[in-house]
Order: sequence, then structure tokens, then C-alpha cells
Amino acid sequence: MATRVRPSNKRCAVIGGSGFLGRHLVEKLVERGYTVSVFDIRQCYEMPGVTFHQGDLCDLQALLLALKGTSLVFHCASPSPASDDRRLFEKVNIQGTKTVIQACIEVGIQKLVLTSSASVVFEGTDIKNGSEDLPYAKKPIDYYTMTKIEQEKLVLEACDPKKGLLTVAIRPHGIFGPRDPQLVPILVDTARRGKMKFIIGDGTNMVDFTFVENVVHGHILAAEHLRTDSPICGKPYHITNDEPIRFWGFMSEVLMGLGYAAPRYHLPYTLVYALAILLWLLSVVLSPLTSFKPTFTPMRVALAGTHHYYSCARAKEDMGYKPLVSLKEGIKRTVESYPHLRKNA
Ligand code: NAD
Repeated sequence: MATRVRPSNKRCAVIGGSGFLGRHLVEKLVERGYTVSVFDIRQCYEMPGVTFHQGDLCDLQALLLALKGTSLVFHCASPSPASDDRRLFEKVNIQGTKTVIQACIEVGIQKLVLTSSASVVFEGTDIKNGSEDLPYAKKPIDYYTMTKIEQEKLVLEACDPKKGLLTVAIRPHGIFGPRDPQLVPILVDTARRGKMKFIIGDGTNMVDFTFVENVVHGHILAAEHLRTDSPICGKPYHITNDEPIRFWGFMSEVLMGLGYAAPRYHLPYTLVYALAILLWLLSVVLSPLTSFKPTFTPMRVALAGTHHYYSCARAKEDMGYKPLVSLKEGIKRTVESYPHLRKNA
């Protein structure tokens, strides 16, 4: 059992604080006067007001040390969806989250804010203005989503005002912004290899892309509204830019902003989806012989070719959420933050 240290309201921990979202969250928390304990499997920066604890969130003792003296925990660690490693997702997102909850209870944490994902209700078919009342996906589209569902359930079920632990889950969608190691770098790499010429489907499908600072704002609002008498206890909340955009329109704006041509030629959605399933099956069959992992997965095709945008009305109502940065401004700031990825750079 960990020794209890008197927690301060302005001391918090960010599990996954070295990641893309985590680091933006840490920066904003420091700006707002918080002292932050970062817990992550990797340490990749230093910052005044921040103490780093390098460790695996499946390690209870390491977590107890990092959380000591804090009253608020943000849990935004996860293996990357691209790894498609079932065992790793189960270990980190399910077993690891159980360990995080246990550590919170042992240390006497009052508030736990989980970064979940809007994809927990997505089964690869259209969702238009979906609310949080949609049921969890019965057939999650990949292992990442499967374990994000279990993770969210664990955290929300752990909400117990009588025992003193309050929890809430934030469900962002399509986070983008400066320092994102995934979306823009992968897009540019694909364009440089001449493979960003095609649009999957008719190109009219609408989705949410959410500027990272708005996602951070949603997390901090949730933490600050999480009280015993608050309606947000034990609930999930969509946090989006509240400006759904055509998926291919967004991609084109980013590409053109960096000097590349926008995709132009259309491919039928069902054909591309069937091909992605075939490739995935092939990778499963060949897995004992080769480590071949297709980047072109059914999840990626579904994300690129279907409508999936979500209502954040509940977050507006219950915690006064409003996006701080418009999509146009977010895209501008993102494009400007990658000068090295410009064409001919
Ligand atoms: P990221 O990969 O940049 O950050 C995740 C961090 O978790 C990394 O720093 C990694 O080192 C850390 N981590 C992984 N395994 C760990 C372990 N066992 N112990 C300790 N730390 C560990 O990812 P991100 O894009 O910043 O995503 C943050 C959160 O947001 C994740 O929970 C993700 O599921 C969720 N999310 C992301 C998006 C998106 O578009 N990026 C959308 C919806 C939800």
C-alpha cells in the first residue's frame, strides 16, 4: 500500500504525457499553473514545472511513485493504432488501465480523466452527428478499437463518489496539429511516393478532424467540472471541432498547403475495402512466416470512405465546451508547423 501524501488541487499526473496529445496537454496544464508529473514509457522532452517518471503503466509500483501527492490523473497513453498488435493492446489498454485504476484508488486520487476515442461506436458504417447514446461497436473494426471499448468501460465503471474516485471519458476524433507524428508525416510520405492520387469512394463523406488544442481544452474542462454533484461523473463526452468536413477535402487542404497536389482519381469504396480485407487475411495467414503488416488496413479504408462525425452537444451542455480554434485556423497552424515537409524542402 502506498503512503498517502496530502494532494494539491494544482498537482496532476499525465500518463502518456510524452505523446502527441499528452505533451500538448502538459504544456497547457503548466501554463494554467499546474505542477505536472508525466508518466510515460519514453521521455522525449524536458520542461520547467514537469517531473518525468519513465515506466510502463502496467507496473503498479512505478505508477504509485509517479501519482503520489496528486489528486488528478489524465490517462492518455495507448499503443499506436498502426501497430495492430492484439496482445500489446490488451496488455496496455485493458490490463494497464486496470493497474491505473488500482493505483488511483491506492493513492487516493480524486479525479481520473481518460482519453477514449469516438471510434468506440464505429463499426465501419456511416455515423452522422452521432451522440454518446450510440451503443458500443458490437463488431469493433480493429483490436485497437476493441480494447479502447473495454478501457472506457473500466474507467467509467470505476466512478464511485462514495469511495472518492470520480471518472470521466473524453472521446476525441481525428486529432491533428503541430508535432503529430502520424497524420501529416504519413500523408506527405504517401504523396512523395506518388500514392496520394486516389480518392476512396465519391469523396463526399464527412468526418470530424479536431485540432489538438480543442481536445486539450475538453480534457481540462472535464477535469475542472468533475465534482461529486456533477452530471459528468462516469460519462463519456465527444470532443470535436464541431465543424464536420469532407475527409478528402481536409486531406487536400493539408496537402496543397504543403505544396503537393490534391488526390483526384476516384476508386470504388467496396472494391478498396474488399482488397484491404484480403491483404489483412493474407497477413494473418503468413504471420508465422513473415512480419508483413499491411499499412492499407480495412480500418483505414473505412475511416477514409465513410461518414463519421459526432455531436458534442453534451459537452457544450454539461461543461460549457466550445472549440477554441476553428478548423481553418487549425489547418493553417498545422501546415506552418511542418516546414521540413513542404514539397522541395
Ligand atoms: P501517441 O502515440 O502520440 O501517445 C501515446 C503515448 O502513450 C506515447 O507517448 C507512448 O509512449 C505512451 N505509452 C504507450 N504505451 C505505454 C505504456 N505501456 N506505459 C506508459 N506509456 C505508454 O498517441 P496520441 O495520438 O497522442 O493519442 C493519445 C490518446 O488519444 C490515446 O489514448 C489514443 O487512443 C487517443 N486518441 C487519439 C486520436 C488521434 O487521432 N490521435 C483519436 C482518438 C483518440
